Amino acid sequence: MEKKLKQKQRELECTRKRIRRLEENRGRANQAQKRRERLVTVSKRKRMGTLVETFLHRDDITTVINGKAGEMRKGGQIFRKRYLTDTMENLHKKFIGENPTLKISRSQFCKHRPFWIVSPRVTDRETCGCKIHENFNSKVKKLHQLGITRTMSSTEVVASSVCDAVDIDCMYNRCDKCKKATFPVEMNPNTKDNIVSWEEWVSRSTPVTKKHQDGSTSEFEVKNTILEKKFASIERLVDLTKEDLPRFCTHLYNIGHQFTRLKMLKDSLTEDQVVVHVDYSENYNCKWSKEIKDTHFGWSHQQYRNKTAFYLASTVPFLKGFKAVTWNFTEASHSKGAPDGVGGALKNLADRMVAYGTDIPDAHALMENLSKQTSVKLFEVTEEKITTSGELVPPSLKTVPGTMKVHQLVATEPGKIRTRDVSCFCSPSCDCFSPREFIFCPKEVEVEESHKKQDPTIEVGTWILVDYDGDLYPGSVTQVC
Ligand SMILES: [Zn+2]
Ligand SMILES: [Zn+2]
Ligand SMILES: [Zn+2]
Repeated sequence: MEKKLKQKQRELECTRKRIRRLEENRGRANQAQKRRERLVTVSKRKRMGTLVETFLHRDDITTVINGKAGEMRKGGQIFRKRYLTDTMENLHKKFIGENPTLKISRSQFCKHRPFWIVSPRVTDRETCGCKIHENFNSKVKKLHQLGITRTMSSTEVVASSVCDAVDIDCMYNRCDKCKKATFPVEMNPNTKDNIVSWEEWVSRSTPVTKKHQDGSTSEFEVKNTILEKKFASIERLVDLTKEDLPRFCTHLYNIGHQFTRLKMLKDSLTEDQVVVHVDYSENYNCKWSKEIKDTHFGWSHQQYRNKTAFYLASTVPFLKGFKAVTWNFTEASHSKGAPDGVGGALKNLADRMVAYGTDIPDAHALMENLSKQTSVKLFEVTEEKITTSGELVPPSLKTVPGTMKVHQLVATEPGKIRTRDVSCFCSPSCDCFSPREFIFCPKEVEVEESHKKQDPTIEVGTWILVDYDGDLYPGSVTQVC
């Protein structure tokens, strides 16, 4: 009996142990499961954070601020400031619109904004990001403050005045339905004719005298952009805002269109295509270490958009064996992306070197000094190279009509271009967005051709087009044998 009891007790003990072991195992499994779940949420949040951050760094969402004004220091690191192009509320809506499967609240969205991405404030600013944007924003904000418009967002003002903010006809003021429409205003009869003030960026030309080493002087004009206080009646402010609306709409459309099309082009490049991403927009003003002054002078930003550049772009690549070429411009005063960052970093590096006593009097010195400190590969375009390229350009080029509006140039044969207000890449010779055709046909060629029939001699220095295997090559005569 006693033996049996002991035996049962032992068995019971064993079963208890087994149960305990099983329970322990289950607990461990639960913990592991919980840990896994936690990891999934963390990585989900991290992924969402990365998505939001990437979105906020896009050039149609924020604008990079170069120069001293765009530096933010934290923990020994210099961060590049970026200005939001719209309110966080609207950007959140845009984000949701582009990513309909993702669920993110506005507060969560705002939490993922890095500290170097800030809203621009017109008043305490040293530099102007984009004049068109800031001057329109400034007026819209004032109208909202006065209770005349329901929104302080320029994008919403645009949306309320067109049928479709992504339709080029509406945004270019060509749509019959919304051509005459404008944004709604609520005027207060009790404050009629009251004077209000707001601020706008204005460009002023100032003549500058430059002294040369030999004692001679030369005068040139520099454009200076300054913040100016404006005064007018409320009614006038409303009119001015309405007057600016069509231009602002076109501007807004161009930014979005060029950004998305160029991104699509980059994402769909084939083996035999090449993209060169260039930023010509700013000069580095040469500096001597004794006189560091932050100059706010800007030379014309559009110098590269001219007939000579168009002519070279539509001829030189063919000499190098390309079969088609397209040159695309982002909307003026808006970030161009990667080159902006590289250029800005190099300029800041140069500034710091000057601050530590290095003289940078010319382009060669700039390149020499920078090369020692950066991994960016630098090339110097010498005066001779510019002269050589200049020799390819015929002396009397016709001006391309509407040059300032052009955002795309396409050439499938040398010297013959098609220009568009906005880019399209569906095929090199597509007819989307009403392209305008233009042929560079200098008078010299016609003269030369009629000459050839009567007199085969060609003079050195004359500009010619050579027909080689059906392709035309431009150049000037350097030697007659
Ligand atoms: Zn702008
Ligand atoms: Zn419309
Ligand atoms: Zn097309």
